[in-house]
Amino acid sequence: MRVAARLKQAERMLVDAGRDPSTAEWWLMHVLGVDRTGLIVRLSEELSDDETTAFESGLERLLAGEPVQHLIGYAPFYGRTFEVNRDVLIPRPETEELIEWVVEHVGPIEDDTIVDVGTGSGAIAITLSLELGVRVQTVDISREAIAVAKRNAEVLRAGVTFHEGDCLGPVADNSIRVLVSNPPYIEADELLDETVAGYEPHLALFGGADGLEFYRKIIADSTRVLRADWQLIAFEIGYNQGQVVKSYLSERYPEAETGILKDINGKDRIVYAVREGIAHGNEMDQANRS
Ligand code: GLN
Repeated sequence: MRVAARLKQAERMLVDAGRDPSTAEWWLMHVLGVDRTGLIVRLSEELSDDETTAFESGLERLLAGEPVQHLIGYAPFYGRTFEVNRDVLIPRPETEELIEWVVEHVGPIEDDTIVDVGTGSGAIAITLSLELGVRVQTVDISREAIAVAKRNAEVLRAGVTFHEGDCLGPVADNSIRVLVSNPPYIEADELLDETVAGYEPHLALFGGADGLEFYRKIIADSTRVLRADWQLIAFEIGYNQGQVVKSYLSERYPEAETGILKDINGKDRIVYAVREGIAHGNEMDQANRS
């Protein structure tokens, strides 16, 4: 069968199974070892027997609900490629907004004064380290996740310090200026798509009965680790958690400016706090120059 026809057929099968059909193209590019341009070039050619066998076996897994990122072993994030497996949450495009906001608003920053809580694959910490040119601290309770994050940091040559532990537990007092986290925030009884619930670590997804447990815990302990000259706190949140997480932050930091940002789909996705007296982005640069 020609490549184009096989792709169309696979996409139809995925739609019928209630799966995301765009994974077929991603998987096919991986099997053929080509990028999108290379795939277009091959569309009118025949698939070899080996290619057909490889494509079919992966397609079975996609039809069963397995994430395509697990088949190919990596996921893109902020223009880089991260190894992923069942021990870590697959980086989501929405989380790139967190990076963008921090990069835009952070002032001059020193090594090891940024912490990423619940780093998982390391996507946030590694990206911030590379974008800002500083060493970033991370904490994760999963030893298996830390092993993945370490490999990612090594391959991408990012400066990252790893701590195994719970929330801010292993982080030293008065050492942090920027606190970021995409903690587990799904409510205990929320029903998730099989592709998520069946294959991604529940440890990285569920945030207690109301999904807010880790925000409460991290914010309560943040006063211990933040330096007096802290700059920013930024959390990824679930679409319905913006107001409550913002209120946790403003209760704890009444002087800070707090806010909620929407993701590409128009849903609340980031809650932040900026210490009083810290100007934003460019203004901050201007203040430093003058
Ligand atoms: N955004 C993820 C999802 O909807 C959840 C991420 C998290 O819990 N931090 O599957």
